[in-house]
Amino acid sequence: MDHFLYRNGHLHAEDVAMSDIAAAVGTPFYCYSAATLSRHFLLFKEALEPLPSLVCFAVKSNSNVAVLKLLGDLGAGMDVVSIGEYLRARAAGVPGERIVFSGVGKTPAEMRMALEGGIRQFNVESEPELEALSAVASAMGVAAPITLRVNPDVDAKTHEKISTGRKEDKFGVPISRAREIYARAAALPGIRVIGVDMHIGSQLTDLAPFEAAYTKMRALVEELRADGHTIERLDLGGGLGIPYTRGNEAPPLPVEYGAMVKRVLGDLGCEIEIEPGRLISGNAGMLVSQVIYRKKAEEREFLIIDAAMNDLVRPAMYGSHHDIVPLVEPPAGEPQVAVDVVGPICESGDTFAKQRAMPLVQAGELVGFRSAGAYGAVMSSEYNSRPLVPEVLVSGDHFAVIRPRPTYDEMIARDTIPAWL
Ligand SMILES: *Cc1c(COP(=O)(O)O)cnc(C)c1O
Repeated sequence: MDHFLYRNGHLHAEDVAMSDIAAAVGTPFYCYSAATLSRHFLLFKEALEPLPSLVCFAVKSNSNVAVLKLLGDLGAGMDVVSIGEYLRARAAGVPGERIVFSGVGKTPAEMRMALEGGIRQFNVESEPELEALSAVASAMGVAAPITLRVNPDVDAKTHEKISTGRKEDKFGVPISRAREIYARAAALPGIRVIGVDMHIGSQLTDLAPFEAAYTKMRALVEELRADGHTIERLDLGGGLGIPYTRGNEAPPLPVEYGAMVKRVLGDLGCEIEIEPGRLISGNAGMLVSQVIYRKKAEEREFLIIDAAMNDLVRPAMYGSHHDIVPLVEPPAGEPQVAVDVVGPICESGDTFAKQRAMPLVQAGELVGFRSAGAYGAVMSSEYNSRPLVPEVLVSGDHFAVIRPRPTYDEMIARDTIPAWL
């Protein structure tokens, strides 16, 4: 459920008509609902009760500092994959004890900064990383708390590019070698083993792969404890999917996910961490754009809009579907027309939807892309010298720009011409 509904014929974000935001900010822009973000975070938190738990928002899905502050103030932890994300979480007021550091390519410089600033744990993904962390932490005279990201060899049955838990994927250490690597970790200076980590993929629409992975995790915890390790924390990763097509999809709910987690892992006496990104931020955001032209070609009709693949890359990169709706509610029973919705960028990849049945929308009118709050603004760029798309946060009847659109001068001023040119 989200808070983007038609009221009096106009699409609102909570109590604000999004056309009013468009008039103030210009298009395209991202619009987030504070109530939806909070609601989704709290659903996860409640789903794990009464187990001791920390819901760590996956910062890579939406890293705006205002979004992080909103969630951090509710008690969220943060899952970061770079020191840049770590610094964003800290700038949002989240203490280091609530930040976990994931990712296959942490550099020694990033490790040092996280240890200096305070960190809950490193989710270590390889033996070379373990050795690098041991060297950095021992040189600083501290012990780095770690989990090992274990690859359970489970197929998440999701999109190829976001599946991460099969043995051919680049993530984690193979579960078959986990005991050996834990023994090595325990023997290294500057390393303190505290738990086990897994993350098998994103946009999972079925609980079965999670359950298969967590069942393997459970057996591993028992083995590791028998080997003498202290395992007090289980990081279960993120990955729960959201419905991108209204009325057609019903992925599992956080409460169902939580019940499964409690059933499979609840009696191990561990603190549970989860790292949801998409399910918290995805349906909490829309991208709003204006139609520039309707263009009739021989075989089809194009809706050319002022948003492009640089603003929302998911359709071009993953072939993803986003529902696209007019901001003015179409009259009931109005016929739909099949159109290709495209952006202005000079490549055919800049296509949001092909032969999409949509109500008739004319040049100058506004459309919104649903479910664009995750992996939307964070993946935007200035390709074609289109200034970075702005972000707006709505709460109740007010809104604020939380990342302004740069002016053309600001965009150009970031380049510098060397003195010798
Ligand atoms: C991407 C990622 C997540 C979040 O995935 P969602 O599908 O957005 O929930 C969590 N943990 C790790 C390690 C990730 O790489």
